[in-house]
Amino acid sequence: MKKLEVGILGATGMVGQRFVTLLENHPWFELAWVAASDRSAGKSYGEACNWRLRRPMPGKARGLLVHECVPPNAAPQLLFSSLDSKVAGEVERAFAEAGHVVVSNSGSYRMQPDVPLLIPEVNPDHLTLVRVQRQRRGWKGMIVTNPNCTAVGLVMSLAPIHRAFGLDRVVMTSMQAVSGAGYPGVPTLDILGNVIPYIAHEEEKVEAETRKLLGNLEDGAVRPADFAVSAQCNRVLVEDGHLETVSVALRSPCSVADLIETWRGFRAIPQELDLPSAPARPVVVRDEIDRPQPKFDVETEGGMAAVVGRVRPCPVLQFKYAVLSHNTIRGAAGAALLNAELMKARGYLD
Ligand code: NAP
Repeated sequence: MKKLEVGILGATGMVGQRFVTLLENHPWFELAWVAASDRSAGKSYGEACNWRLRRPMPGKARGLLVHECVPPNAAPQLLFSSLDSKVAGEVERAFAEAGHVVVSNSGSYRMQPDVPLLIPEVNPDHLTLVRVQRQRRGWKGMIVTNPNCTAVGLVMSLAPIHRAFGLDRVVMTSMQAVSGAGYPGVPTLDILGNVIPYIAHEEEKVEAETRKLLGNLEDGAVRPADFAVSAQCNRVLVEDGHLETVSVALRSPCSVADLIETWRGFRAIPQELDLPSAPARPVVVRDEIDRPQPKFDVETEGGMAAVVGRVRPCPVLQFKYAVLSHNTIRGAAGAALLNAELMKARGYLD
């Protein structure tokens, strides 16, 4: 099969670098085009990018010319976007208007009613919203989004138990990695020996996105799920991996063993279709008393799983547990790649 050429908007950033590595040996997609700010445009990728990943920069990416984020600029039809949120809204719209399929990480369009906010294991049916989007906006292309990096692990853990037992209330406290703030991110003197109990707009995003992701598609719109979510978000001195502690109250009777069995048995469309980036086990449950930990568990299933542990009764709600997910893989580049794979498998890129 001839590979489909793809590009990256915001290719030089933390998430952009993840895209570059995840695309290196991708069986369906070939990285052919990169773009970033005018600080980088006109240079080679190798020159423009301050590479921050342990795995070396792929040789092919090194020689690519960095373009400006202005269409058409010889860009391929499928573009992944990891642009700074300050510019993502305008740039992504311009490319979608010009006929490109923009698979975005940024927050600009996630909560727009005609834009799919997708986790392929959770709400693949929401992809059909792009028909409404095209009708309403008259774009030749489209925008499809993945959730905020904190919402994704939470929702992957909630989805199977919501389906089986019905969620009533959810309380989540996050401990979020510094790579979630981009590069150079949080100044050392702010985070060293410290925890910062505030991440701008994060709690509102997690609360709203969780209910959209678990909502039902009715008459061309998503009706948000009808349970309450309360999120408290903290920045901690961890490199990669957002750890979250979660308490839930459910609507049908169940036990700790039922929850664990439900998570372990959870498989969905990406696993059935055997999409290249799909984890074999979307939710991995650890039995050890002190896991998951970012240091040991963040790479589980190539960074694409939600790793759950410490499942036990909660005296205030009903059950509590911890969940870990990789913020720049499952929370960003890997999430967008899986969205694009689902779109390709379903004929949206033909
Ligand atoms: P980052 O490291 O700061 O990278 C930002 C990228 O945007 C760089 O490629 C930068 O290019 C480009 N850029 C900045 N200003 C621009 C402009 N005026 N015009 C065109 N390009 C511009 O940020 P990141 O962490 O990769 O995050 C990227 C996006 O993904 C953000 O919207 C973020 O909210 C979202 N996200 C991040 C994570 C995470 O864990 N980090 C998770 C989920 C979603 P230059 O190098 O040329 O400046």
